Amino acid sequence: MVANEKPASTFRYGEKPVYTTSNGFPIEHPSKWQRVGTHGPLLLQDFHLIDLLAHFDRERIPERVVHAKGAGAYGEFEVTDDISDISSIDMLTGVGKKTPAVVRFSTVGGEKGSADSARDPRGFAMKFYTQQGNWDWVYNNTPIFFLRDPTNFPLFIHTQKRNPQTNLKDATMFWDYLSTHQESVHQVMHLFSDRGTPYSYRFMNGYSGHTHKWTKPDGSFVYVQVHLKTDQGSKTLTNEEAGKLASDNPDFATQDLFEAIQKGEYPSWTVYVQVLTPEQAEKFKWNIFDLTKVWPQAEVPLRRFGKLTLNKNVENYFAEIEQVAFSPSHLVPGVEPSADPVLQSRLFSYPDTHRHRLGVNYQQIPVNAPLHAFNPFQRDGAMSVNGNYGANPNYPSSYRALTFQSIKPTNPHEKWAGAAVSDLFDEIQPHDYEQANGLWKVLGRTPGQQENFINNVAVHLKDAHKDTRDRTYDMFTKVNPELGSAIKTATEKNVKL
Ligand code: NDP
Repeated sequence: MVANEKPASTFRYGEKPVYTTSNGFPIEHPSKWQRVGTHGPLLLQDFHLIDLLAHFDRERIPERVVHAKGAGAYGEFEVTDDISDISSIDMLTGVGKKTPAVVRFSTVGGEKGSADSARDPRGFAMKFYTQQGNWDWVYNNTPIFFLRDPTNFPLFIHTQKRNPQTNLKDATMFWDYLSTHQESVHQVMHLFSDRGTPYSYRFMNGYSGHTHKWTKPDGSFVYVQVHLKTDQGSKTLTNEEAGKLASDNPDFATQDLFEAIQKGEYPSWTVYVQVLTPEQAEKFKWNIFDLTKVWPQAEVPLRRFGKLTLNKNVENYFAEIEQVAFSPSHLVPGVEPSADPVLQSRLFSYPDTHRHRLGVNYQQIPVNAPLHAFNPFQRDGAMSVNGNYGANPNYPSSYRALTFQSIKPTNPHEKWAGAAVSDLFDEIQPHDYEQANGLWKVLGRTPGQQENFINNVAVHLKDAHKDTRDRTYDMFTKVNPELGSAIKTATEKNVKL
């Protein structure tokens, strides 16, 4: 077999490809190197050695600032119920229709080598390769988040990472931020319940969190929130189990996902949508653009429409998972972002990250490439590997016509007007604590869950400065007086004087 008979990446076990340098020069022995004489110095002409070392030196790309540690797999989405009354999205049209997908789960705050069992929200990101473009659902395993002002995202994340001086995780930074930005308390309730440490990725739900719009060609639209409920059942670790697993097997969730799929135990999620008309949204008690709030299910019931199943492991982790690039701005006809300011800021931030980590042509990487894409006006740039649109005109040429399809609703469906203002989301109000109390009551439905919550907070909060601890007790008291006092008692018992 000649060296260049087919690309090296397509060789399979059992075949014996000829070993070469990166430009295809056959090498007789992988460990040999060139020098002068018997004990002389190396030769710069030894491209095999230089090639090997120089490539090794460049193996790392920047890890994601958030969601650095993750695992993923391929699968498919299947439409299970007709929702044509609320959606015109091609992927969701027709019961039984299947769309291929790639999914990546992750923790948020830890570095690439950190433990899968950390107390942390989990990323639940999906890319659907639809006939009308890639549609990414960049979700979490919690229905809400810590903030509703987009400016707070980097500030908040810094407090969950390492202290700039000690390079240590810092309980004071962590709770100082949360207790001075008390709109976060609802998400804190989720994080410190046992669902803050899922058993593994297969046993947790996924939520859009943000409100999106599903639009129709007639200009009508509905506001939606999407939920994926695990068919494996919700299964969690206690704080102690999660801590032990972090040292015994820090890659437990990664291994669990890979091995389940290898064994043919394909994990699946039933997919639901909550729907509000614009008229209902206006009268709704909760601001639908506030990422710290859910839509209570008794008022806005879940409507089933699909199933996501993961059924194939990747061949190469780096190529297919480290390089997979999700963004809430990767949308398809019939879906639009809402005016949620955090969602709006993510529309910018995700592709910005990909251009930094992977380069301007990140959509050409095979795992990211859409089934059909044609934009010869985007030319050149680093790593243009798809042929760079060959001889196609790089402007709208009258000599080579393109087809332009109208996908916009024919009527304008949302109108905004006003002066440009420098804004903050609303000041914290008493009702901002209500849904956190709602979750406190949900925890009370299962024996032991409230006790575990109090313990999970106490063992973390005990390491924060006293004034931060006091402010945090006050925050939980506003959620529920009994909760505030129970956390104070449990925490102060553990404080080292
Ligand atoms: P319901 O009383 O109708 O249902 C309770 C919800 O809480 C279910 O979705 C359930 O998910 C979920 N849940 C159960 N145990 C836990 C837990 N330990 N940690 C997190 N979630 C849990 O809910 P409401 O809509 O009236 O909301 C009540 C509270 O439930 C909210 O304040 C919110 O914090 C929480 N919640 C609400 C969701 C929503 O979108 N409305 C979604 C998830 C949680 P499951 O079916 O998987 O058990």
